[in-house]
This record gives sequence, structure tokens and C-alpha cells, in this order.
Amino acid sequence: MSKTTPNADGFTSGDSIDSGVSEDTTWISWFSQLKGNEFFCEVEEDFINDDFNLTGLSSQVTYYNYALDTILDVDIPEGELDERQQELVEVSAETLYGLIHARYILTARGMDAMRSKYAEGAFGRCPRVYCQGQQVLPVGLSDMPRHSTVKTFCPMCWDVYYPRSRIHNNLDGAFWGTTFPHMFLHTYNSLVPPRNPERYVPRIYGFKIHKTAIQVRRNVNAEDVHIDDRKSKSDSRSRHYRTNARTLSSQPQSNRRTIS
Ligand SMILES: [Zn+2]
Repeated sequence: MSKTTPNADGFTSGDSIDSGVSEDTTWISWFSQLKGNEFFCEVEEDFINDDFNLTGLSSQVTYYNYALDTILDVDIPEGELDERQQELVEVSAETLYGLIHARYILTARGMDAMRSKYAEGAFGRCPRVYCQGQQVLPVGLSDMPRHSTVKTFCPMCWDVYYPRSRIHNNLDGAFWGTTFPHMFLHTYNSLVPPRNPERYVPRIYGFKIHKTAIQVRRNVNAEDVHIDDRKSKSDSRSRHYRTNARTLSSQPQSNRRTIS
């Protein structure tokens, strides 16, 4: 099976280093080292050989058995697949590997492998100025394949970003999933960075913009809005009750029945 193919999202990977790949290189190792696949760690074959870890994946990938054989370097007999089918199997192998990868990185060994990559800075840094180059972690916005591309999560500002390199913008977010960075930081508490309280303050001719200006109000953080919202609702409710009570008490006795 060829180890130079366009992947599921259409970008060609592996061209530049394929010539240096020896026949002994496993598919997993070859795939993980391709340019653009830096966010992947190498999944151990033992993990893939345990059927329990693959539960439910056969319905998400076409040519599942062939795709699994490809990942595990099991030879597919010559002539069993035509050229078109071989291409589809190769695409399926990449998708299947990605979905297995999303599960593997939630295990202790997988997380340890991702920790090494994090230490090397393989996932990039937060583009936000006040995060001062904080390292980011890959995250998916969906656990279902083909819903959205991978994003990066910054543990300092708690926001998500498009990966800096365009080549990473083609990777499926489901290959890392929605849980990974949060489980990772839960496991490695010491890697949780202190929150940087510094925030950019917009100014016009050096003066802060008044808090009633619409551009300030729309950027008040969600929690403040939420609290203000609750406060104003309860204020207006009590105002409403007070008004009604006043209205009622000021009504002549004869009119009270029609109001209630
Ligand atoms: Zn950040």
C-alpha cells in the first residue's frame, strides 16, 4: 500500500519525506511524521489491537477492515482492490487512525505522549498578546468526524483559535476531540498556567471609552452580563411588584376587583 496519498481533506502529505522512508517504517510512524501531522502522537499498536478500544468505529469508516489492516501493516493480497478502492482505503485508514487517536490520547500513555509533544511546543502558541506565548493544546469542537477542523485551546485565556499554520487547518477536529485539553490539564495540574489578569484597554486620544458606549457594553464579559441581567430582571420584578402594590393600595375599594 502506498504511503504517499492525498488525505481525506484533500491536501497532499508526505511528498517531501517519502523518499527517506524505509520499508521497515510502520504506517503509524510514517503517518505521524508527515508534514502537517505534528499534532498527532504515535498510537501504540497494542492499543489498536484491543478490539474494546475500537468499539463503534466500524460504522464510522468505510472499508473498515482494510483500513485497520493498513494501519497495522497487514498486507492486503495483490489484486483484491482496484486502484480506486485502494485510494478509498488509504483515506479511510487516515480517518480511522484519527478516531483511534482521539481515544488513545485520553489514556495515561496517550496523554504522556501528548505531554512530550506539548513540552516540545508542537501545538504552537496562543496568538493573544497578553498570553505572552502561552503554549496551546489541540481541541475539536465536535467528536463527530467531518464536522469541523482542529482548533487550539489556550489554557491561559480559555479561548480557542485556528492553528497558526494553514496546513493544520485541514485536520479534522474529531481526531483530538472535545475532551482532550481539559482532561490533560486536569491530569497535569502543574501545567495549568496562572491566569494573566492583564486586559487590553481601548482608548481614544488616550482616554478610556465611557462604559455606556455601545462598543464597551457589547464586550463586557459574559459573566458580568449574566449577573447584570439577573440583577436587572430582579430589580424590574421588584419594581413591578412595588408599582402594583402601590397601584392597588391607591385604588378605590370598588375598583380592586377589576384589577385582580
Ligand atoms: Zn491565550
